[in-house]
Amino acid sequence: MTTKFDEAFVYNGVPNRVVFGSGTISRLAEEVKQLGLNRPRVLSTPVQKRDAEMIAVQLGENVAGIYSNATMHTPVDVTEAALAVMTETKADGVIAFGGGSTTGLGKAIALRTDLTQIVLPTTYAGSEMTNILGETSGALKKTLRSPKVQPEVIIYDVDFTLTLPVGLSSTSGMNAIAHAVEGLYAQDRNPIVSLMALEGIRALAESLPVIVKQPQDREARAKALYGAWLCGAVLGSVGMALHHKLCHVLGGSFDLPHAETHTVVLPHVVSFNAQAVPELLAPVAEILHADGPGQGLFD
Ligand code: NAD
Repeated sequence: MTTKFDEAFVYNGVPNRVVFGSGTISRLAEEVKQLGLNRPRVLSTPVQKRDAEMIAVQLGENVAGIYSNATMHTPVDVTEAALAVMTETKADGVIAFGGGSTTGLGKAIALRTDLTQIVLPTTYAGSEMTNILGETSGALKKTLRSPKVQPEVIIYDVDFTLTLPVGLSSTSGMNAIAHAVEGLYAQDRNPIVSLMALEGIRALAESLPVIVKQPQDREARAKALYGAWLCGAVLGSVGMALHHKLCHVLGGSFDLPHAETHTVVLPHVVSFNAQAVPELLAPVAEILHADGPGQGLFD
């Protein structure tokens, strides 16, 4: 894509610290110390409770325990239950270990307490890179943007993504691609964010087909996580449009699985919007339909 400078632009960077690699969980204790935390609480979903317990054990005395009831779409009643436990145990920070659901719970706690957040992402949802929080009460999902919910430190450890089932790896990867696609035609798009968007899509287009065949391929997993990071940064930097609004309403109203909903809706929105902004989406078509491994990702 040739960058044109015919219009002025504003670039909002994502203000956080990122540690990336394999085995980076070993850096957690040091990051906790650097942030001045003494009793952070480890958050997870019930499915990832065992790993969360192992992480807590690794922190020894410097942990307030775990809370393992994170739930998709961040229901307010779950947040209130977690807050009660946080207060009771005098927790002074959160370590969100998991996908967007767990990160969402950490953000909801931070919104109400201003506590520091460390996130260990294990899916490709990208929530860790944003100041966005979607919360559900009844069947109504409301989204806000606030610097209070922006996590301070992100530790991407590729090893934790090896267990992500192939189905969820694919749909979560499509969720990430959706952030990047909408960033390309965002009203406040800019050349820096578009670079990240296309690099993120390219990384996922190259890695997801490999992961489907070989879920334990560490290099493909690393590339997918890198792509998810970039796509999350796009979501955190510019506004989203039709696709995210549709998925938000459908997901919140009918309690639909997040990544799967994005996967089903994205090709339809892309084909609709491509008629209006063909020049902005052409590079995506080039990446996905080239004779490379990403070929047919939208078919
Ligand atoms: P999720 O966090 O609900 O994870 C789905 C399931 O997979 C959970 O049971 C989880 O424990 C399990 N899982 C996660 N990683 C695993 C791993 N490596 N191995 C085995 N099991 C694993 O799903 P998600 O798609 O990551 O997140 C969806 C939620 O995130 C929604 O609530 C959505 O609104 C939110 N979200 C928010 C933002 C934002 O910027 N605010 C961005 C994206 C998604």
